[in-house]
Amino acid sequence: MLKSKVDEMTTCPLCFEDFTSPRILPCLHSFCLKCLQGHCKDEEPGDDARCSLCRAEFTIPQNGAEDLKFNFNLQGLVDIKRASGSKAELEETPGRDSLEAVEEDIQELNIRGKIV
Ligand SMILES: [Zn+2]
Ligand SMILES: [Zn+2]
Repeated sequence: MLKSKVDEMTTCPLCFEDFTSPRILPCLHSFCLKCLQGHCKDEEPGDDARCSLCRAEFTIPQNGAEDLKFNFNLQGLVDIKRASGSKAELEETPGRDSLEAVEEDIQELNIRGKIV
């Protein structure tokens, strides 16, 4: 459930891959830099282009799509997803709790050991 939501959020609607250097448009839709560059390649900086999703107009910055705002949140999400590797690991957090419980037990045993 969480995993599919994360997948949905980290998938670029243009290339259907994980976002690469995601840029955010004024309409709040995000696309990879390379996808936006491809999308805007027939336009000049200063021209208006349209969001592929909602058709909202935006102005291409002087230095091209690269100058659009970098979506740090989205890049962070992609990084977390990559770091977590497979789908299983994202849902494996409860495993850590039991590890902590074991560590507490060991500590308790150590304390008792010292008392005895
Ligand atoms: Zn893309
Ligand atoms: Zn849009």
